[in-house]
Amino acid sequence: MHHFNYSGGRLHCEGVNLDALAAEVGTPCYVYSSATLVRHAQVIAYAFREQSVLIAYSVKANGNLAVLATLAGQGCGADVVSGGELLRARKAGIPASKIVFSGVGKTAAEMALGLEQGIHQFNVESSGELRLLSAVASQLGKTALIALRVNPDVAAGGHPNISTGKSGDKFGVPWGEAEALYAEAARLPGIRAVGVDVHIGSQIGDLAPMRAAFEKVVGLALRLRKQGHDIRRIDVGGGLAIPYKEGDAPAPPSAYAAMISEVTAGHGFEVILEPGRVIAGNAGVLLTTVLYEKQAPDRTFLIVDAGMNDLIRPALYGAHHDIVPIAEPKPGQAHRAYDVVGPICESTDKFAAGRELPRVAAGDRLAFMSAGAYGAVLSSSYNARPLVPEVLVDGDRYEIVRRRPSFEELVGLEKVPEWLTTVA
Ligand SMILES: *Cc1c(COP(=O)(O)O)cnc(C)c1O
Repeated sequence: MHHFNYSGGRLHCEGVNLDALAAEVGTPCYVYSSATLVRHAQVIAYAFREQSVLIAYSVKANGNLAVLATLAGQGCGADVVSGGELLRARKAGIPASKIVFSGVGKTAAEMALGLEQGIHQFNVESSGELRLLSAVASQLGKTALIALRVNPDVAAGGHPNISTGKSGDKFGVPWGEAEALYAEAARLPGIRAVGVDVHIGSQIGDLAPMRAAFEKVVGLALRLRKQGHDIRRIDVGGGLAIPYKEGDAPAPPSAYAAMISEVTAGHGFEVILEPGRVIAGNAGVLLTTVLYEKQAPDRTFLIVDAGMNDLIRPALYGAHHDIVPIAEPKPGQAHRAYDVVGPICESTDKFAAGRELPRVAAGDRLAFMSAGAYGAVLSSSYNARPLVPEVLVDGDRYEIVRRRPSFEELVGLEKVPEWLTTVA
């Protein structure tokens, strides 16, 4: 469900005409729908209404402050993977008591920040991290509440680049070492183990691998309780898939919640969720303008003003984004197969190959759909292209919530050493 629809012959986001918005803001630009973000947060909260749950939105999916503030308004917490994301979440009004800190490479400074802020939980991914966290907490006179992220050795079935729960993946502590590590945690000062955490990957549409992982995790949590550990929380991570194209039918939040309820029922666990894509993915689009149509012997290229530096998912994972013209196609309008490419000097700067689209021409505007998650956050200024604006729509109004930097800002962190500027 999202709020991007044609109205009066133009694609709208809620009540805002995206043709007019693009003319005003310029392309490329990201546009997010508040109503869609709110709806997704509410659908998840409703699905879990009968369980004790913390919805810790995964900031890495889309960390724009306005997006975070929208979700904070819905009572969401945050799952962060760096000190920067922690500060973003706090700045957007998410209370520290609703923040969990994940990630394999936390530094001592990031640990201290989390402890000083008083976050809900650290998800610890190795014995080295556990010992460092103990040292940092002891030094600050604090106690870190932790879950160990375990690697359940379950294949998620998604793209290998976004699978995180197999034994060869860098994430989590090996399944066979988890109990020994909890025993070590119990002996360490400044550490209190309160949960077990797992996250097996992203864009997972089939609940079977998740259920397999969560059953193992609950089994482990119950064994740990018998061994004297006060385990009260099960963090099931994120990973729920969204539909990217017609025919995609991932498991809905209601079925996901029912499965988690079944697997965890009767033990009094607090369930922590870390949804990212399922909240933000279909709440955003990337608007672009066609620069050129270029005919090659065997194909037609559509060269657009957005590049892989703005939206890297197709280049990184071969991901599919629906591409739709902002001007609504007329019934019976001619179609054509296009290779849709960007201006970047890389052959992987390709959004779609042989994609059937209504015929378009230079100057026409297009929208890449489902670009709200892992879009703007993964962008760069490669080829000296400034980061593109992000716009938040709310009903009939919109606001530029990240502006396009100027050229001076783009190069503002750089410096030419004096020895290169003085003539000998
Ligand atoms: C990326 C990530 C998430 C969010 O994943 P989605 O597929 O966007 O829901 C949650 N938890 C952790 C630890 C992650 O790394």
